[in-house]
Amino acid sequence: MRLATLSLLCMSLLTACASPNPTRSFEGAPNRSALAIHGGAGVIDKDTPAEKKAQYVQGLSIALRAGQEGLARGDSALDVCERVVRILEDNPLFNAGKGAVYTENERHELDASIMDGSTLACGAIAGVQTIKNPISLARLVMERSGHVLLVGDGAEAFASQMQPLPEAAGRIERVPNSYFDTPARHEALRKKLEERGSQLPPSLTDRTPDYRGTVGCVALDIRGNLAAATSTGGMTAKRWGRVGDSPIIGAGCYADNRTCAVSCTGTGEEFIRHGVARTIANLIEMRGLSARDAATEVVHRRLQPDDGGVIIVSRTGEIAMVFSTIGMFRGAADSQGRFDVSIWSDTEAITKP
Ligand code: ASP
Repeated sequence: MRLATLSLLCMSLLTACASPNPTRSFEGAPNRSALAIHGGAGVIDKDTPAEKKAQYVQGLSIALRAGQEGLARGDSALDVCERVVRILEDNPLFNAGKGAVYTENERHELDASIMDGSTLACGAIAGVQTIKNPISLARLVMERSGHVLLVGDGAEAFASQMQPLPEAAGRIERVPNSYFDTPARHEALRKKLEERGSQLPPSLTDRTPDYRGTVGCVALDIRGNLAAATSTGGMTAKRWGRVGDSPIIGAGCYADNRTCAVSCTGTGEEFIRHGVARTIANLIEMRGLSARDAATEVVHRRLQPDDGGVIIVSRTGEIAMVFSTIGMFRGAADSQGRFDVSIWSDTEAITKP
């Protein structure tokens, strides 16, 4: 009898070890798709010239449309998240890829993460300096490294190893660090250093909203699979080597088919302390909250005012976009024809179908 129990236990342990990430499908997949994107909390002034606002709306709309069309074609949530984030990384208006903010020593160090809610597979990179599209390297970390997070020189060396492989073709491109330069970000660095003066280290309570602009995407595909992706240059004038929440699974990014997919933007240190993305998923799973209520609880009750915002798509296709800053560049679309892009208050949608 004892032997039988023991062998049963061994068998179940072996099964668990053989498949650490069993596919997490759920019954009654909604057969609808939905996605949300963000281009960062900490937005432009409302009196910014109309032409400039239009550029942001256009940049968000192009990315959102690409995601919506991909999901309509039946692409996976994971592929859509990677593709959408690549589009935003290539847009110099946003703080990810081209247009990333500067470190205090005038370099760019980029962080990114991606997660597949159907298996809990995830990958992330931090502090890379020559990767044109960090999100694609994060995905290769997930698929080819056997690890979750690679940083700095190790991540760059991994990129060099991956580059000759067919799956890296057209996805992993190397660029000089100066490729990420933009005059607007340089001016933001100059201002930040001037404000900071000789104060070293900068105050921990300094939450002065700067020009953020991290990007992210969350998606639910027609098979009921969720995915999330986040990419950033970090915070203006960050200390070199500093890593924020964006590449930390459970802080700036999380996806689990049982609950939701989350991508965050804001003061990274706070998002790490509060494990924001994972806490939202936990509130949905354990307290049965809606995506909006879970996000409100974390963004408005646990974080401080002005810390940032989150986008969520739940397993049922509910989209929530919640922030405590004056705005958040964002967009939402689904298979029922929703398509809207917004910058400021919760209610205002700039483009509607
Ligand atoms: N969360 C990012 C970071 O702390 C910044 C942002 O979202 O704008 O690196």
